[in-house]
Amino acid sequence: MRAEDVRADFPLLDSSVNGHPLVYLDSAATAQKPLAVLEAEREFLTTTNAAVNRGAHTLAARATDAFDDARAAVARFVGARDDEIVWTSNATEGINLIATALSNASTADAQYRSLALTPGDEIVVTELEHHANLIPWQQLAQRTGAVLRYIPVDDDGALLLDTLESVVTPRARIVAVSHVSNVLGTVTPLEPIIARAHEVGALIVLDACQSVPHLPVDVRALDVDFAVFSGHKMLGPTGIGALYGRRELLEALPPASTGGSMITTVTMERAEFLPPRLRFEPGTQRVSQAVALAEAVRYLERIGMPAVADHSVRLGARLVEGLRQLDGVRVLGDTSGAPRIGLASFEVAGVHAHDVGQFLDDRGIAVRVGHHCAQPLHRRLGLVASARASASVYTTDEEIDVFLEALAEVPAFFGVGR
Ligand code: PMP
Repeated sequence: MRAEDVRADFPLLDSSVNGHPLVYLDSAATAQKPLAVLEAEREFLTTTNAAVNRGAHTLAARATDAFDDARAAVARFVGARDDEIVWTSNATEGINLIATALSNASTADAQYRSLALTPGDEIVVTELEHHANLIPWQQLAQRTGAVLRYIPVDDDGALLLDTLESVVTPRARIVAVSHVSNVLGTVTPLEPIIARAHEVGALIVLDACQSVPHLPVDVRALDVDFAVFSGHKMLGPTGIGALYGRRELLEALPPASTGGSMITTVTMERAEFLPPRLRFEPGTQRVSQAVALAEAVRYLERIGMPAVADHSVRLGARLVEGLRQLDGVRVLGDTSGAPRIGLASFEVAGVHAHDVGQFLDDRGIAVRVGHHCAQPLHRRLGLVASARASASVYTTDEEIDVFLEALAEVPAFFGVGR
């Protein structure tokens, strides 16, 4: 694919920032949206809008059909069945949903207790997780008496897989890992981790937030038990994400949140819950966002995910090679040799990441600075903050080069280096 061919679909990319053409290299935080996605949401809201699932009128039935079709599109995109996809606000809510439901299992009715954790059970994460795939597990451990363990990384951020056997023990009940690191851009070597998790009978939770937008992902082929991702990082709107759960696991889980539209019978004392997925979707649903996310999926499918992946990997290589040439620049996770997407974090010796970000912003170049919601990883790599450039389908080679040329001026501008 050629980024130049799709750019016209993203009007925002045509903007100027601080007198320069915008170079948007913050797609890992949130991606820009093509007109087709905006139009799908507008069209739904102007022709079909109604609350779904319960209305007896024609518009409600049409809206429910659109909502179901959107779910089917997203399910197909990740190799799941329709009834295995639960809408969430974003990946963060998806992980919290699993962790809260597991926590609730300890005190739920007998039929929902099978997945409850008991004191001494273990939950395993990795040292490179986004806080969204760490804190909910810390909280679950605190609530249940489970022990949180983690697969450490080496000085370059590569996962130390030789610790797998000692870290993922037969007491492990959950192994929660990201598919692609939002700091390093590297693809996690999932196979040995998933194999070990299954060997000891633990459930695998995949944080697919940074993989689903850039790589073909098939949850069934990967053999994961749960997976989460966010619509806004894959050209869709904010306010919508998805949780994949294997059907029998969703069946076994009690609800995380309760309220309207997720019950069969309610008395003043108690309630009986609907089967999944409705059990996990209380309240009025985000229908227009789901419809727009399905359009984002169709947009990516029209390009073709293998082509999207090639583009991302190629830009990742261009970024890293370019960064490596620059004096005083250290790429995080550079030497691990792992496959990576079009994303790289880096530090410029002697210059705070926020200053790097400010300097680039003055040139119209948008990058992310800070700890990228991964404080433990930054601490492990001896950093407080880094800067991160990340690409999407609309990012051109030329934009990477403009960014690299500007970055080359940073040390001299701040009076560091030679
Ligand atoms: N996991 C990873 C790897 C991420 O990159 C992000 C977003 N930065 C999240 C989880 C959380 O996503 P959201 O904020 O959309 O819930």
